[in-house]
Amino acid sequence: MTAPDPNPHASTVHQQGSLESRFRKLVEAAPDAILEVNEQGRIMFLNEAAERMFGYSRGEMLGLDVENLVPAAMRGGHAKHRASYASRPNTRPMGTGLELQGQRKDGSLFPVEISLSPNWIEGSLHVIASVRDITERRVVEARIRALREQYTAELTAKNEQLEARSREAEQANRLKTEFLASMSHELRTPLHTIIGFSELLTEQLEGPLNEKQHRFVGHISQDARHLLELINQILDISKIESGHLELRREAFDFDHCVGEVLAGIRNHAATKNITLENQNSFHDALFADRLRMKEILYNLLSNAVKFTPEGGRVWLESGREGNSLRVSVCDTGIGIPQQEHPSIFEKFYQVGDSSAGVREGTGLGLPITKHLIELHGGTISVESWPGKGSRFTLTLPLAPSRDERS
Ligand code: ADP
Repeated sequence: MTAPDPNPHASTVHQQGSLESRFRKLVEAAPDAILEVNEQGRIMFLNEAAERMFGYSRGEMLGLDVENLVPAAMRGGHAKHRASYASRPNTRPMGTGLELQGQRKDGSLFPVEISLSPNWIEGSLHVIASVRDITERRVVEARIRALREQYTAELTAKNEQLEARSREAEQANRLKTEFLASMSHELRTPLHTIIGFSELLTEQLEGPLNEKQHRFVGHISQDARHLLELINQILDISKIESGHLELRREAFDFDHCVGEVLAGIRNHAATKNITLENQNSFHDALFADRLRMKEILYNLLSNAVKFTPEGGRVWLESGREGNSLRVSVCDTGIGIPQQEHPSIFEKFYQVGDSSAGVREGTGLGLPITKHLIELHGGTISVESWPGKGSRFTLTLPLAPSRDERS
């Protein structure tokens, strides 16, 4: 049990006193200026921050017309605003959307943010204004704005540079394609002459060649053909890359096309004693670019023969699978390590160790093949086992049949 308070009245007075001083300290400690203004616009109460912010002493400020704290240019408007606030007094920010300013005793101006609340004292409307000096915030905002403008300007300049570079690159690419087209024409014509005449010599119609001469002419012919293939492939890849390669689709006999390509490869296979097999079961017409289709099959089959040792086997399997034509070119050759599979479709890539000894070629055959298949809307994939062989499989979508079209 607690003892009764001997002087309850004194205790209440003491508590009230301390409460008031606590509130006073709270108001004084606030970083914002707090002012109370009466109906006539006179300042009735203020805290320490208000003295500091506006540069007046407390004595000077008490009873001062609040208009003195408003920039001269705004005073007319301010009187009207005070009257309108009195008609609808509630707690709200002052001048939403406006850039408000306060005026110090020395006449200097500073940006402020003001919050207003009504305070009824004995039936008369007093207004409490809480004023925050936002000079620092404005400085930071200005700095952010300047930085943003600077970055935007830099970005715009960079974009313009990039656009100019990309235009230059496009132009250079077009010139490269035009140059390659005309150069390859210039190079191909004499090469055809070299190949043609070396073949004539090999046929020995103009007189016999001794064994050495025969071999030399063979080298000339073989290297000239290699050069021609390289030129054709470089032209192809540059056309593909610049988007200038267009397909000439037509309906043709796929069986016949496979037969032609295998015939073209048969000699090379025979020199290595490689068995060449045709396991095509698609005997319909194919709607595609016939010459490009032959190029695709030729590239895959000549690689198969090239990378298969003496006495091996190379075969082509093909057939309809749903609405697609599926063709696999398989061999019992040296194979390709798993980690190399994605790279072999890149330009100029040749597998290092596994194809050692077999160095003829350009590294352009597979990338061109892949592009040509993709231009037809198809895909190509590889499965391969080093030392056992490889299987390249392509899938081409078939045009809808007449029945399906109607
Ligand atoms: P290349 O002109 O060298 O044949 P490709 O682009 O056609 O160029 O092939 C790239 C590389 O992929 C070849 O150099 C070879 O290392 C590998 N490769 C392609 N086909 C086969 C295959 N059937 N067997 C083994 N390796 C192959």
